[in-house]
Amino acid sequence: MNAIEVSHLTFSYDGQKDVIKDVSFKIPEGSYTTIVGQNGSGKSTIAKLIIGLLGAKSGNIFVMGKELNEKSVYDVRSHIGIVFQNPDNQFIGSTVADDIAFGLENHCVAQEKMQPIIEDVAKRVGMQDFLNSEPTKLSGGQKQRVAIAGILAMEPDIIIFDESTSMLDPQGKSSINKQIKMLHEQKKITILSITHDMEEVAQSEHVIVLNDGKIKLEGTPMEVFGHENELKDMKLDIPFALQFSKKLKKEHIVDECVCTLEEVVNQLCP
Ligand code: ADP
Repeated sequence: MNAIEVSHLTFSYDGQKDVIKDVSFKIPEGSYTTIVGQNGSGKSTIAKLIIGLLGAKSGNIFVMGKELNEKSVYDVRSHIGIVFQNPDNQFIGSTVADDIAFGLENHCVAQEKMQPIIEDVAKRVGMQDFLNSEPTKLSGGQKQRVAIAGILAMEPDIIIFDESTSMLDPQGKSSINKQIKMLHEQKKITILSITHDMEEVAQSEHVIVLNDGKIKLEGTPMEVFGHENELKDMKLDIPFALQFSKKLKKEHIVDECVCTLEEVVNQLCP
């Protein structure tokens, strides 16, 4: 089954010009898809359409087989967790444990059942030693891990990451990228990640490149990185390790590329 299916989706804000233009794609259950594109290409608008925060002008969206419409929107949302860009805007509890408990309380989970769930999800994101800490005092990467724990407690089928690493330092980025990979590989959660981070794109299974509200390129990371010039035209860079090894080859410092596309994608590059 497809976790998300978007079919001929078109959208405009307040009857202005279309910003999403006849976009169709399928995200199979358990898969890991990244969406990339320049600022203003329509990435966040698509995420908002998928969770029903915006209504399409035309086209259809199906989530876990159910068509999204006014009646089904709350049901559809119960399948999806979202991690946003700014970790500071997503905390409600005064401790990490309270924060994770908040979503469970909203879902009327009995008090005595909460503690084991909180401990389990905190452990899964490596935050089990911070349950009594104040969320605001954590690092950016730790905050995002707490946000992920809160979402995992709700057992969603799909997690959307909306530029969730863009405010993090390289270490925070890398720790969240590892978390995302783990959720995909071990927990089989469907991942849709909107990102600027080409290192993250390299670890996904499927890439959608948006440009001016349309799908410009789509395929595996290997296929998409092969279109280097088209990506450059959209101000998108291939991963640094791949750029670096190509440069060394071009300047005749080495005969062969230090990293092949395949090694970068499979994170085998030193
Ligand atoms: P991205 O996430 O790729 O940066 P967005 O989905 O935010 O792109 O924006 C797509 C287009 O829609 C842009 O042209 C942007 O200016 C426009 N847009 C975004 N939000 C609004 C809004 N609330 N009202 C009008 N236009 C908007």
